[in-house]
Formats: sequence, C-alpha cells, structure tokens
Amino acid sequence: MYCSVHPNQPAVGYCQSCGGGLCYSCFHAWNPPTCQHCANVQFARQRSGNRGILVAAAVLFVIGVLFGLGSNSGLLVALAVGYVLAGFPAGWASLGSLVNRRGRTVFLILPIVGWLLLWVIRFALSPFVGIVALPIRIVAAIKGVKKADKALHG
Ligand SMILES: [Zn+2]
Ligand SMILES: [Zn+2]
Repeated sequence: MYCSVHPNQPAVGYCQSCGGGLCYSCFHAWNPPTCQHCANVQFARQRSGNRGILVAAAVLFVIGVLFGLGSNSGLLVALAVGYVLAGFPAGWASLGSLVNRRGRTVFLILPIVGWLLLWVIRFALSPFVGIVALPIRIVAAIKGVKKADKALHG
C-alpha cells in the first residue's frame, strides 16, 4: 500500500474520507487524517458554505430595509428591520445547536405537539437571538472563507 498523493512513499494510514493510503507527511497534514484531494474538496465546500451565509445575510438585510422603507417608518427603523431579518438565520441556527446539544433525549419523550411547540418558540426567539448571533456568525463566516482560501491557494 502506497500514498495516494505520493506513489513512491509507503502508506502509514488512510484518508478518513476516501480511504486512500497516506504517507507519513500526508498523514500528519490534516486532522483527522485526510488526503490532499479530499482536504481541497472540504475546504471548497466550507468556502462556498460560508459565502452562502454572507450572501444570504446581505440579501435579507436589503429585503428588510426595503420593506421598512416601504412601510414609511423612517430610515433608522428600516435599517433595524433589515438587521433583525438578516440575523434571523443566525438566531435560528444558534438555537438549533443549543437544542441539538441539550435536547436529544428530551425529544424522544416529546410527542409531535411538543415538537411543533418547540419550533414555534424557536421561530419566535430567533430574531432576538439573531441580534447577538449575527455579528458573531458574519465574523466566523469571513474567517472561514479566508481560511479556506489560504488552504486552497497558499
Ligand atoms: Zn481522500
Ligand atoms: Zn503523501
């Protein structure tokens, strides 16, 4: 068995994604051990995912501002509406990870009604959580894009 990237090097391990052989230097390049090809695929996916988050936030912000301006409530209110709308997915995601971490066992006991209730509560809380979560999420997304860019080209 030889490294899938360096055919003249003996493999010391396997890529976690495709199962290809990894030589010593490839095995220690990424954690978990991943071949360069699979690492590039993952970084490309991470980059486009983070770009999607940024684009979605920008689009929602513009929609919110236009909606606010359309309702004739002044620029400041319009900007606030845009911000809250842009933050909604961030709030939704934050609440989701909270629920996933703490509530897995609770879900097994909850009937369908409990699920629905939880979704309604999550929906209602998302705008408020989003106000805090949006800047954190945007910074993380920009960092993610930069990191992936560096890994793919650097
Ligand atoms: Zn691989
Ligand atoms: Zn190698």
